[in-house]
Parts: sequence; C-alpha cells; structure tokens
Amino acid sequence: MKALVVGNGGREHALAWKLLQSPQVDQVFCCPGNGGTATLKNCQNIAIAVDDFPAMVELVNKEAIDLVVVGPELPLSLGITDYLREHNIKVFGPDKAGATIEASKSWAKDLMVSANVPTAKSATFTDGEEAKKYIQQQGAPIVVKADGLAAGKGVVVAMTLDEALGAIDELFAQNFSTVVVEEFLTGQEVSVLALTDGVTIRPLIAAQDHKQVGEGDTGANTGGMGAYAPTPLVTPELGDRIYTEVLQPTLKALQDKGIDYRGVLYAGLMITPEGEPKTLEFNCRFGDPETQAVLPMLKTSLFDVLLACADQNLASLPPLEWQEGSAVCVVGASAGYPGSYEKGKEITGITEAENTGATVFHAGTKLSDDRLLTDGGRVLGVTAIADDFQGAIASAYHAMDKISFEGIYFRRDIGHRIMNN
Ligand code: ATP
Repeated sequence: MKALVVGNGGREHALAWKLLQSPQVDQVFCCPGNGGTATLKNCQNIAIAVDDFPAMVELVNKEAIDLVVVGPELPLSLGITDYLREHNIKVFGPDKAGATIEASKSWAKDLMVSANVPTAKSATFTDGEEAKKYIQQQGAPIVVKADGLAAGKGVVVAMTLDEALGAIDELFAQNFSTVVVEEFLTGQEVSVLALTDGVTIRPLIAAQDHKQVGEGDTGANTGGMGAYAPTPLVTPELGDRIYTEVLQPTLKALQDKGIDYRGVLYAGLMITPEGEPKTLEFNCRFGDPETQAVLPMLKTSLFDVLLACADQNLASLPPLEWQEGSAVCVVGASAGYPGSYEKGKEITGITEAENTGATVFHAGTKLSDDRLLTDGGRVLGVTAIADDFQGAIASAYHAMDKISFEGIYFRRDIGHRIMNN
C-alpha cells in the first residue's frame, strides 16, 4: 500500500514514520515534506505545495496511492478533501464544511452550545463598539479571539480592560470581521485528539504541550516547545467524561449538520481547578508537537486506522493498543523564534541522538547537497519513551544534547508540570 502525507512539519514526519511501520505500507510520499521525510527509508518528497490540489491528483493517479493523509489545517479549510474525493481518492481529513470547526471560532462556539458541550461563556460580535461595551460589562481578565485562521496569533488573553479593548481595535484593524469574547478560564490545558470516521470516534492518549517559549511557561506563545503523553492529569474517569461530554456530542452535532467528518477531532480543553473539562477550541487535524509524543506510543497500525476512518468502518477495528510508559518530545528551535530567526545553519548529531534510542522528528529542516540545514523556527523534535516520565524526560534531553546547530534553543523544563506535582 502507498500513502501520501500532505505537509512539511514535525507532525508530518511523525505521520510518515508511523505509517511506514504498518506492515502493509511499502511507500510514503510527502508533499512537500522536509529534510526528515527526505531521509526516511521508503519515503519520498515531492515538491507539490499543500494547496496545489490538481498536482496532487496527478501524483496519486500516477503512483496508485491508496490513501492521502492531510496534516495542516490550511488545505483542509481550502477544501482539499472535497477536491480529492471528487476524483475518487481516499482521504483522511474532514471536508471543507467539517474544517470550519477550526477555521471559525464563532461557528465552533455555536456548535458547542447547541451540543451542550462544556465551554467558556462567550459572545460573538461583528461590531467593535458592541464588543467593547460587552467587555466593559464583563470586566477583566477576559479573552478576545479573532474568528478565523490566524496561525495561533488571533487570541489575546487580556488581564486588563485596556488590553482587551486594545485587542478589539487591533483585530478589526487587521480586517477580521468577527470576534468572539470569552470568559477567562483557569486550570491546566490538555489536548485530546480523537480519530473518527464520522460515526465512531476513538480518542488517542491525552497529551499536554508547552506553548510558551520560555522556561516556567513564560514569554511569547509558539507553535509548541514540547509535549508529553499520556498525561496523568487525564484519569480514566476524566477521559470517560471527555468522551461522553465533549467528543460524542460534538460528533453528533456535526452529523446533525449533515457533515461527514472523517479525520482528527482535536479538543483543546481546560481542566478547571474543580476538575471540569471545558473546551477551549477544536482543531480539525493532528496537533504539533503532540503528535510527536502520541504516535510513538501507538502499537496499532496507523495505516489501518486512518484507512478505516476514510472508508467509514472504524467500528470494525479492535480498540487501539498503546505501549506502556510515557513519551516526551522536546522541540529544538532557531535562535530568535518565535520572532525573526536565521535559516541555513548546518545541523549535526542527529545519528548520535538516535543512537541513544530516541527518535528525531524534523520540522524546519532541509537537505541541501547532502547537508542538513535549518529551514524554520521550530527545527526538530526529539522524542523519547521510557517506563515513566522521569526516564523519558532524561532520555529526551540526553539525546537533544547530542544535536547542535548555531543558535539552537530548547526549553530545559519540558514536563515540569508533571514532575512538580
Ligand atoms: P492554537 O495555536 O492552540 O490552535 P488558537 O489561536 O486556535 O490556538 P485557542 O486555542 O482558542 O486559539 O487559544 C490559544 C490559547 O489561549 C489557549 O491555548 C489558551 O492558553 C488561551 N485561551 C484560550 N481561551 C481561553 C480562555 N477562555 N481562558 C483562558 N485562556 C484561554
């Protein structure tokens, strides 16, 4: 069997790597892929952009590819699934209507409210002055969210009224026409990614990530500086509640809208100090870096499960099987990230890192004349598995210490919430 992975991040390297572990998969293609997928055995990068759907159809037909797995939200929200399905191609990933759950926060909020999914109280505005009046009534802290894909930059958690009012001006000035203003919640965030064929939904092990660039969870937000799974914060009881109170009703609400959702339904949840799971957002794709911690723990064939989602027969598969122990992923970034940074620095020590038993997933890397160079803000993720978190953290850092490139930066405290509990 052959699979095509769309995207070029650490998530896509992890997907390609895991798909190739499925005994029935002979070959994986990546569009466009990165330096990691370029060096993966039986994996080939093809220089097709993630939004060039006609070129992908041509590739799938030429290579007789059996399944397309879409990584990022952008092609999903542009309708890659609809386009490929019109050409009789099997796709893992929701269609354009389903991807709205991530692309529009007001749409997602309405869906959550209609399905009785626990979430923060909110109001949606198309008029800045109305939004400001509401903020003044509610007081701070309060959260302001742009209603559209904003690459993680559309949310302002405002600790003061001034900050919240300023955020309204700024988002409307950036040409967002709608904002969601939301109650401020406290607690710990967890990511529960679930796989669905539109009828059956199966959660993966729960993960936590570290969004902020600085140690102690300080500084600017990033795409994610590290992740770990399964987080002990999600006990079996809490996992059951997330399934029955969040995932199932959301899938049912999607069905009621006539949406045939086959892909990842990713719930970003706040676990409040009272232990209540409240949904902050839904994403329509695998999380990055969570995927780099979750997939290495999966024992079941990833290809079988994703194909079953695309074929709408997930219920016929046995339950997912997971390795015992804990996985930790530490992200290595370029100096300056998430601000401006330089590219093109030579990366060394990957083999030495992998010789320790860890797995290195590339994100912003590229191969140039057989040299591996940095090519992005988040450069790579090092994942280690051990019997417990302490061991996994130690092993991930032991491997990361073998890797170098000019300006390498990584947080030294990934997993601190677990170790300090
Ligand atoms: P992501 O990069 O996670 O996809 P996003 O731009 O889609 O981000 P959200 O996940 O909704 O937006 O919010 C980003 C972050 O803002 C959350 O991870 C959380 O830390 C914080 N946040 C969002 N909503 C709230 C809330 N109601 N109360 C407190 N913090 C919040």
